[in-house]
Amino acid sequence: MVQTEPGFKSSKGSLTSRALRLAVVRIGLVALCAGAVSYYVNMYSLETAATTQLLLSTEQTLQREALPFDEIKDLQRNFLNEFKDTLARPGMAATLAQDFDRIFYRHEDGSYTQRPMLFEGEPLPDGRRFAGMSATYAPDIPPNDDVKARFALSYILSHKYGSSAQGRLFNFYGVVPEKGFPIYQQADIAKVFTYSGPDALKLETYEFYERGFATPGNETLFTRMYWDASNNAWMTTIATPDVADASGKHQILACVDVLLDELMKRTAKPFVNGAYSTMFIADEDGTLVYYPGQMDQVKSSEGKASIRSLKLTGDYPLLEAVASLTPGQAKVVQTRDDIVAMGIVPGTPWVLAVHFPRAQMIPAIFDNLLIVIALGLLTLLVEIFILRSILQKQVAIPLFRLIQATRSLGLSKERLSRDTLPIRSADEIGELARDFAKMAERIQDAQEQLELKVKDRTAALEEANRQLVVLSTTDGLTGIANRRHFDETLVNEWRRSVRAGTLLSLMLVDVDHFKKYNDHYGHQAGDDCLRSVANALKAHAQRAGDLVARYGGEEFVLITTTPNLDTALQHAHALGKSVEAMALPHALSPFGVVTVSIGLAVMVLMDERTAQDLLKQADQALYKAKAQGRNQAVLANIV
Ligand code: GH3
Ligand code: MG
Ligand code: MG
Repeated sequence: MVQTEPGFKSSKGSLTSRALRLAVVRIGLVALCAGAVSYYVNMYSLETAATTQLLLSTEQTLQREALPFDEIKDLQRNFLNEFKDTLARPGMAATLAQDFDRIFYRHEDGSYTQRPMLFEGEPLPDGRRFAGMSATYAPDIPPNDDVKARFALSYILSHKYGSSAQGRLFNFYGVVPEKGFPIYQQADIAKVFTYSGPDALKLETYEFYERGFATPGNETLFTRMYWDASNNAWMTTIATPDVADASGKHQILACVDVLLDELMKRTAKPFVNGAYSTMFIADEDGTLVYYPGQMDQVKSSEGKASIRSLKLTGDYPLLEAVASLTPGQAKVVQTRDDIVAMGIVPGTPWVLAVHFPRAQMIPAIFDNLLIVIALGLLTLLVEIFILRSILQKQVAIPLFRLIQATRSLGLSKERLSRDTLPIRSADEIGELARDFAKMAERIQDAQEQLELKVKDRTAALEEANRQLVVLSTTDGLTGIANRRHFDETLVNEWRRSVRAGTLLSLMLVDVDHFKKYNDHYGHQAGDDCLRSVANALKAHAQRAGDLVARYGGEEFVLITTTPNLDTALQHAHALGKSVEAMALPHALSPFGVVTVSIGLAVMVLMDERTAQDLLKQADQALYKAKAQGRNQAVLANIV
């Protein structure tokens, strides 16, 4: 089986299952088409084969069945020739007339039969034997010598020809138109017929008699089939008359009765498997000779039942084709249900039709169809197996790896390992994987460079921020903390002092007569002066938590912790002195140098006091220092 990657599932929408489903559909369609093609090809080839076989075997049957009838006709023609020649011989008629009296005797009703024991084989006085010969003769008028001669000659020749074909023919008889015939056959007919009463023999009603003497020609005729009760068999009579004389009168009619049972048995069993045969007379209605399942109708209609009278519509196309038949040659006719090979048995009026029902081909066609479908299914299974393993191994799993690699590329910082990719495949996926690996490398390189750049930028930004903070908290002119920084620090230091229990002092420092300084020395010099004062103040804020800031204009502020009020005041005085000690000349000041006035306030831990209160007190103290003459430090009153 195909090895499955861990975590790999071929879900419903996956490439593999889609390809497999398509394969099923495709092979289904192919099998369907192949089935249809096989159906029609099989149908066609089976039909062709069946047709060829039918034609061949039917033609053989026609030739074979013609043989006994040819023999009969030959015998009858020889009989008729000999009959004519013998009668023509001088003196022969008289001899035969005498023979008549030797062979036959007259019954009281005027009919004649052969003399007793002749049939059984007893010789005549002259030694001639006519075993198996009997006769029936019921003339309307007593026979003259001509009739006697013909009747006797028929007796002698019937014996001759009948016994020559003994075993092959059922009988042989020569009929005279004066209603009588001697016959060679196993049964003695002298004992069969009566000549009076309702059962009296009426030869003129027999088809062979009626038709045989009806026309002057000497064509052989076949009677309709009839059921011979005495022999318990289907019979037909084949009769050939001599050529009629100028008045249209015949002298003799050579007849043979043919048992059709054998013929029917052979007909019933055609050579082609699954086929069945019918036989009918090539007349307008298709009078039936043999038709399986219809023999009762044939019998009850005295052989008159026909394709038309029984409305065997399926066989009507056969009737239409009869006119185009050549005796001995088979022809194929398609009927509703059957493929039929039909042909006239040579020398007979009969059509043999071998039917091959098309339904016979269905099982063979379906067998083939089943084989095609089975092959289709087998192909399907094999294709699914191959396709699945190819797709799984060469497409789905490599793709799955690529997908995983793509995901991890977005998620993890680690470098992609080329080994996890299907880069060694020689196919398109391998190419894709190689390109992907290259792309991943480029992306990761770019990512790393980007990260480095971001790091640099971040550092620069942090520095800029730091400077910004410094700038935002520093006074631009003096470089010491600005008012904003001071405000924040004051609140924080206030809280810290409250927590730590230390004493916080605040000094407001204002340059004396600075307006005049500016006026006298110029604004530029004023700025320099402010810077110098700021530096001097800075020197007094060295401890942690101390802060010097520019409060605004020429005013500064200093916060610092102090152990007590005295120390704080000393600190303020020292501050003022250190400015004066710089000795920056100030021509318009009563002190001659730049000086400052300082308002000092020290925090008192009392409820509801705030840093703002401290500032306010320092301001009031500053005001006082100014008022008292400047260049001094004044401690605020504690209220
Ligand atoms: P007093 O002794 O009462 O403090 O008198 P004073 O002149 O110092 O005070 P006043 O408030 O009248 O004048 C302050 C002057 O300080 C006015 C202004 O021109 C000057 N000044 C304020 N800020 C600056 C600055 O940044 N640079 C310079 N050069 N002068 C400044
Ligand atoms: Mg001022
Ligand atoms: Mg001033």
